[in-house]
Amino acid sequence: MARVYNFSAGPAVLPEEVLKEAADEMMDYKGTGMSVMEMSHRSKAFDNIIKEAEQDIRDLMNIPDNYKVLFLQGGASQQFSAVPMNLMKNKKAAYIVTGQWAKKAYQEAQRYGDAVAVASSADKTFSYIPDCSDLDIPEDADYVYICENNTIYGTKFKTLPNTKGKTLVADVSSCFLSEPVDVEKYGVIYGGVQKNIGPAGVVIAIIREDLITDDVLEGTPTMLKWKTQADADSLYNTPPCYGIYICGKVFKWIKKMGGLEAMKAHNEKKAKILYDFLDESKLFKGTVTPEDRSLMNVPFVTGDADLDVKFVAEAKAAGFENLKGHRTVGGMRASIYNAMPIEGVEKLVEFMKKFEAENA
Ligand SMILES: *Cc1c(COP(=O)(O)O)cnc(C)c1O
Repeated sequence: MARVYNFSAGPAVLPEEVLKEAADEMMDYKGTGMSVMEMSHRSKAFDNIIKEAEQDIRDLMNIPDNYKVLFLQGGASQQFSAVPMNLMKNKKAAYIVTGQWAKKAYQEAQRYGDAVAVASSADKTFSYIPDCSDLDIPEDADYVYICENNTIYGTKFKTLPNTKGKTLVADVSSCFLSEPVDVEKYGVIYGGVQKNIGPAGVVIAIIREDLITDDVLEGTPTMLKWKTQADADSLYNTPPCYGIYICGKVFKWIKKMGGLEAMKAHNEKKAKILYDFLDESKLFKGTVTPEDRSLMNVPFVTGDADLDVKFVAEAKAAGFENLKGHRTVGGMRASIYNAMPIEGVEKLVEFMKKFEAENA
């Protein structure tokens, strides 16, 4: 068995321990004589899986009792519609546009009401987070929306925006469970799990109860109304059972690793190794304003597109996979999520040093 160092932005690396456990349980999950893939979502065994998963993420994130945890489908992208459908009572919302995912959410919201871009970093190709301490937020805005970690551009909000009392909605797809979070600062926290938690097909949404109502935009599909899912404990219809089971295992792995404080320390250590090298390298350069750098996604370039291509190819041959930057920005990007071991980043930097010496 040859495992590579997988720097994919998502679907992405998962803890080896989790994969092995899932493999062990593939044919016979805890004496049921079947795989979790084969069992009823209404069975006792699955009921335990989803309830334990919910409890474990509640423990990890310290989620207050007045927040629901929903396991949904449709990807983070489907929440780009669900958020305005469920929250736009005044048909007005403020969006902070810090990258492609924020922009997509902003554009989708325009279909349902008046979505206003109150800040943007498009002027410098989304390489920084704008100052959000005193934005012009409309008096009647139903919420303020951010993409907290920008997967493609590699920036992260280090301080949350001053929403002037409005509900904060955050897409945390690429920083989910990477560090401690103060849930009470948000109305809605949601993300696709395929970046930092589990397999594609599951979205986790953590929503303050007062925001879950029947008062949704006219025409909202039953499945996109949060209340439908909340009332049914995420079992209104068949949920992505196997994906939820893997997420549950990852929650237990994070708990065993010491929780979100420990994850943060682990992630800071890894990111520092890579950023320190980028800062001293004569060939490679990080593309993000240092104070806004993501711990999870690290974009970099050599400044020469042909050399970038050569680097990605040679890295792949050496066992470092998926280092090509997003198709819209080029260059390279190393996604170093929770499950990426420190050794993976150390070896990558070693390889980059060697490449630099050979291509000086
Ligand atoms: C990947 C990603 C998305 C899109 O997720 P899907 O599950 O493919 O819809 C949205 N937001 C962020 C921040 C992402 O990283």
